[in-house]
Amino acid sequence: MFLSNQLNINTPSPEHSLKAAWLEKKALTLTLKRDDLIHPVISGNKWRKLIYALKDAKQNQVQHIISFGGGFSNHLHALGYCCHQLNIKFTAIVRGDYSLNLSPMLNDLLNWQTDVKYVNRITYKKRGDPTYLQQLKEEYPKSLIIPEGGSQLQALKGVAEIITELQQNYDYIVAPVASGGTLAGLIASAAAITPKTQVIGVGVLKGKGYLEELVSSFLPSGVVCNNWQINHDYHFGGYGKTTPELNTFCNDFLSHHSIRVEPVYSGKLCFAVKDLIHNDYFPKSSKILALHTGGLQGAR
Ligand SMILES: *Cc1c(COP(=O)(O)O)cnc(C)c1O
Repeated sequence: MFLSNQLNINTPSPEHSLKAAWLEKKALTLTLKRDDLIHPVISGNKWRKLIYALKDAKQNQVQHIISFGGGFSNHLHALGYCCHQLNIKFTAIVRGDYSLNLSPMLNDLLNWQTDVKYVNRITYKKRGDPTYLQQLKEEYPKSLIIPEGGSQLQALKGVAEIITELQQNYDYIVAPVASGGTLAGLIASAAAITPKTQVIGVGVLKGKGYLEELVSSFLPSGVVCNNWQINHDYHFGGYGKTTPELNTFCNDFLSHHSIRVEPVYSGKLCFAVKDLIHNDYFPKSSKILALHTGGLQGAR
């Protein structure tokens, strides 16, 4: 596809089978879908969520995109890079004022000529509010507004390609959940293509109930999906929070498997999968796929 070529996107991403004594002991197979290898800059699942929005933007000659995120956001980073490469003006509305204390992510955005706007928490809270979005539309006519995390209906179509790319069937697909679009895309696509596959989200923030509602809100209405659930035992205190145990796990994972994971998403995911295996959550001889969503820029 033209856009993927233009941005040097490497899909399909590899399926990497993990070798470890703790897997052999339980007679399970664990495969990592390496969406972290899709691109050196664009974070894996953010590409999946943005591809169709960007395709439409190019097709409709959109010249300005606006979106939202925190000071370390993988979404703003991916979108900022894509807009820079595609010659689209990008306005990033950032929660909190980092102007005197730029994160590496914000530094990259500024190098990519992003128009960065810092807003306080109260304004940021309005990011989904129709009146506020209307105001933005008036302030920036002819712009396209993409929601936080890139999670919107269109995102599901891009995420679905993770499932259509798979080389084999899995009993379980496990992925981290924050703004919900990725899990919703996996659920909808798996329900349609491999209905026996169970999709398990690992909540990376304290969001019992909230995350389920968020994910459900993206699922096609009228289609009953009962192939999924979210586990809330591995948020390690909340979004972006970590512990010495999780940090050690991430370092050990790198030294054992030569695969980098970070404590915000992929580290929590892999920790959760290993712990669930240890606690015999998965029946014997299950085939498990864990989705490495990328996000390594955020750990800088
Ligand atoms: C944003 C992000 C997620 C969470 O995906 P959602 O669709 O927001 O739930 C997971 N992993 C990484 C690396 C991310 O950047």
